[in-house]
Amino acid sequence: MPPGQGSLGAEADLAVVGAGAAGLYAALCGARVGARVALISATPLAQTASYWAQGGLAAAVGPDDSVELHLADTERAGRGAVRRSAAQTLVAEAPARLADLQSLGVRFDGDRVGKLELGLEGGHSVRRVVHAGGSATGRRMLRQLSALVVAQPRIAVLEGGGARVSALWMVDGHCAGVCLQDGRLVRAQAVILATGGDAALWSRTTNPPGSFGAGMLLARAAGAALADLELVQFHPTAVTGVPGREGFLITEAIRGEGATLRDSNGERFVDELAGRDEVARAIQVRMDQTASESVTLDMREIDPARFPNVFTALREAGVDPSRELVSVAPAAHYAIGGVLVDLYGRSTVPGLYAVGETSCTGLHGANRLASNSLSECFVFADRAAADALGGAAATVSAEAGQGHAALGAEIAAPSRQTRAAMWEHAGIARTREGLRQLLDCPDRIAALTARFALERKETRGVHQRLDFPATDPALEHRHLVIRDDDEPAWETWN
Ligand SMILES: Cc1cc2nc3c(=O)[nH]c(=O)nc-3n(C[C@H](O)[C@H](O)[C@H](O)COP(=O)(O)OP(=O)(O)OC[C@H]3O[C@@H](n4cnc5c(N)ncnc54)[C@H](O)[C@@H]3O)c2cc1C
Repeated sequence: MPPGQGSLGAEADLAVVGAGAAGLYAALCGARVGARVALISATPLAQTASYWAQGGLAAAVGPDDSVELHLADTERAGRGAVRRSAAQTLVAEAPARLADLQSLGVRFDGDRVGKLELGLEGGHSVRRVVHAGGSATGRRMLRQLSALVVAQPRIAVLEGGGARVSALWMVDGHCAGVCLQDGRLVRAQAVILATGGDAALWSRTTNPPGSFGAGMLLARAAGAALADLELVQFHPTAVTGVPGREGFLITEAIRGEGATLRDSNGERFVDELAGRDEVARAIQVRMDQTASESVTLDMREIDPARFPNVFTALREAGVDPSRELVSVAPAAHYAIGGVLVDLYGRSTVPGLYAVGETSCTGLHGANRLASNSLSECFVFADRAAADALGGAAATVSAEAGQGHAALGAEIAAPSRQTRAAMWEHAGIARTREGLRQLLDCPDRIAALTARFALERKETRGVHQRLDFPATDPALEHRHLVIRDDDEPAWETWN
């Protein structure tokens, strides 16, 4: 049944699309202030990026830490492109969101005297990353949050294949609900997209297959602006050459505890705790120099009890990291760009919000500081839910029978060819010739990513142009945004 023409499925104050960290928390925040929430998720929990998160959540709570230090690290990692107001919001509010998660029953790991145990990751100048169950952070958080969602009578959960959102429902230019693939229409006074990122558009990825930019497509079809699509972070250490574990991420926190990277001659070649962009690039260069498909990670000195799910997953696949080196190579990991939003998660379309990885707040600049993304999910989900329920959005009534489905490109997983082409032409090192080959790609987000990447004629953070190897000072704090005229244009954010 075409979207928007089916039976009226439900009515809510707030419709939240996606049940990862950002969506679950937004739904809980909405219900907590008395709203009726419809939470819609196309996939089971284990297929969210959030469930797979290992390292943890960054918040300035250590005795040697401060919000100023967290801000400085975020800005240094972001390579001259961080939107300061967004980063300030994140660092200021992350400790309160962490406390809230604890009060909701998420149990983070503590030391012997019960204080939060803090991990160190690349780019952080102090220990700042809280985790749960060692490297099972995402799994632990999502289990607790989803249990709370299920027990919350004001949240109606719609999940499974039929609950895939295929279009946004528009009334007089205002987003007033969502159309589901099975024909149902969920009307709401505001919609929060929390559909995750698009790193699964690349063939080598750490992400679940559903992370192909659905939220960006939905928002764009409704006329929302998208920003920074060329900025995609590559994680340095994804497992390779191990059947059944291709792309499995080995958390940076393991390098924080002393694991080292070695080339095919057994030599170290990079500061393992440098920023992700630097480490990923150094690995790629060393692989090219040594004509290898991978480098190795030496975890033999690491206590397996600290990172149980990493050691278990590798041992189940026949590799024992306590005895042998593990082959790793970079993989597409995190969408820095996405639906352009302000500090309350508002997109450029009234009534439409975006939070978590599907959004672009600008806080990551051109290179995300490790573990800032989970914090971003919680900080901005809380803000968006409050704004959506308290602001002008709530005064708009979405009458049954009015409105239309905002239809754009089909919301479909990319083909194998598209994913291979993205890896080849929009991977760690890009050129004009390669990117131009993606312009006719049938996947709209893939083609747009190439258009954005062609416009950024410099190397900055995660975006490396072999034909423009220098950073252009004129592009400091400049971001590419596509609005109504369908042409990416430069804007300055501070
Ligand atoms: C392996 C891995 C490890 C990571 N480790 C860390 C870490 O340690 N610390 C950190 O800060 N970040 C980490 N990240 C990044 C972080 O996990 C993600 O950025 C974050 O979890 C994204 O959360 P989200 O809620 O925005 O999206 P997701 O968790 O991806 O959830 C997306 C949801 O949207 C739903 N959805 C998508 N399309 C539709 C549709 N059309 N209709 C209905 N539902 C839809 C999906 O079913 C899913 O429920 C990691 C990422 C990966 C992949």
